Amino acid sequence: MKIGVLAIQGDFAEHIFMLKRLGVETAEVRLPPHLDGLDGLIMPGGESTTIGKLCVDFGLLEPLRKFGNTHAIWGTCAGAIFLSKDARRSQPLLGIMDIIVYRNAFGRQVDSFEADLAIPELGEGESYHAIFIRAPIIESVHGGTRILSALPDGRIVAARQGKLLATSFHPELTQDTRFHQYFLSIAK
Ligand code: GLN
Repeated sequence: MKIGVLAIQGDFAEHIFMLKRLGVETAEVRLPPHLDGLDGLIMPGGESTTIGKLCVDFGLLEPLRKFGNTHAIWGTCAGAIFLSKDARRSQPLLGIMDIIVYRNAFGRQVDSFEADLAIPELGEGESYHAIFIRAPIIESVHGGTRILSALPDGRIVAARQGKLLATSFHPELTQDTRFHQYFLSIAK
C-alpha cells in the first residue's frame, strides 16, 4: 500500500508522519508523475485558495480529477474544500465530490476549537476528538454522498462519497490513528 500526500502547501508533514506510524509507504505529490503507483491520496489542511492556485500552476488539476475517478482521495479542511463541487465563491477546485462547503464557517483563527464527535463508521467505541482550525462546514451533501459526522447542532463535518472522503477537522494533528486507518481501508 502506497499513499501520496499533496505536498505543495499546508500540514502535509503531519499526515506523512501519521501514515509512517501506521507502517504505510508514502510519497509527496507535487507534480503529475508523482501520482503514478499510488493507492490513494490525502490532501492536507492549509489554505484552499493557495493549494488551488498552485495546482493550476503545476498542471495538477486534471491529473488529480482523473486519479479521483478510480482512487481514494481524502481532503482534510482546506483539502475538503478543494475536493468539493462548490465552495460558494470563485476559486480553483477539483470539483469531484458532491458537497457544498462554506469556508471559515466558525469565524476567524481565534475561533478555532476542539470537539468530541460521534463517528459511528469508526466503530462504537470512544468518541473522536476533533480539531477545527478556521474550518469549513459541509453545508449540504448530494448524490451518493453520506454524512459520517455532524456537530450536536447538525452542522456536517465529515462525509464520504464512494472512495472520496472529506473532513472539516484535522485527524493528522491528534494521536488518534482511527481516521487514517479508516481511509486506508477505503484505499485498499
Ligand atoms: N480556512 C482555510 C481555507 O479556507 C482552511 C483552514 C484549514 O485547512 N485548517 O482554505
